[in-house]
Amino acid sequence: MKRNLLVLFLSSIILSCAGIIPVQRDYIDGWIDSENSYKEHLPHTVISRSIENFLSDDSIVLKKKVLFIGYDGVRTDAIAKSEIKAVPYIAGFPAGGLFYSHVGGVSGQLQRTDSGPGWATILTGVWADSHGFVRNSVASKSSDASSFLKKAKLLDKNYVVASLVKWGTINDNILGDEKDIIDFQYNAKSDEDLFERSKKLLSDSDPDVVFIAFDDPDAAGHSSGFSPFSNKYLEQISLTDSYAYELLKIVEAREAYANEKWLIIISTDHGGSGTGHGGQSDHERNVWFVISEKSYVY
Ligand SMILES: [Zn+2]
Repeated sequence: MKRNLLVLFLSSIILSCAGIIPVQRDYIDGWIDSENSYKEHLPHTVISRSIENFLSDDSIVLKKKVLFIGYDGVRTDAIAKSEIKAVPYIAGFPAGGLFYSHVGGVSGQLQRTDSGPGWATILTGVWADSHGFVRNSVASKSSDASSFLKKAKLLDKNYVVASLVKWGTINDNILGDEKDIIDFQYNAKSDEDLFERSKKLLSDSDPDVVFIAFDDPDAAGHSSGFSPFSNKYLEQISLTDSYAYELLKIVEAREAYANEKWLIIISTDHGGSGTGHGGQSDHERNVWFVISEKSYVY
């Protein structure tokens, strides 16, 4: 035990020296080891609302920008045990925070803990009984439930909004009814391709609201287990997170960065249990998100 504490202490020092703020691991571990109940956590619908709150904040004089990065199927206890940089980096912003949240709906409005319903809820801020994307094979979400990309356009038609994904269903089906509104959509061949195209977009052009969703952690979970003890799953989460970290650095290196105010959110669409998900167990429902300014969450 003492040795573990020493290792933890030394690794905190090394991480601090490297400019990387460690995520509050002991807090996550304590929660996982205790009741592990989703009931006290925020509903995932708050993500879209946080973006709306930010975009509607008239006190911001700089140019408002939003970047959402998704990691498909990343359990809370697994991200806590992965080698991560982007997630603690955002959580460690002076006004940033890490939140435990839940997918799967609420009593009377339950939805599958699958990618279609999960991403649709993140995008629209409502559960499946309102957005209509109740399973992965739906033609389109309901046009009554607007994504935060469309809501940005409704606030100001000059906003340039973009959606870049590996899982094409997000662009083709979930956002199917908004194809004419979204300025740039990209269905990548692989997560690596998604990373390259996202880098290019963020460095060479001027998008205002960007949604990016990486897919490989989910694939690793399906093949090797959604578990904090599955090394392949943890390694994949680390790789995906390293892509996100590089994208954050590209944002900070933008020529106009000093005149921009970025709200950055990283999250996932569902957890997992064994090699699957879709049900209502705590490990499928419990998720997390980090946000660069937590005051916009409520
Ligand atoms: Zn998924």
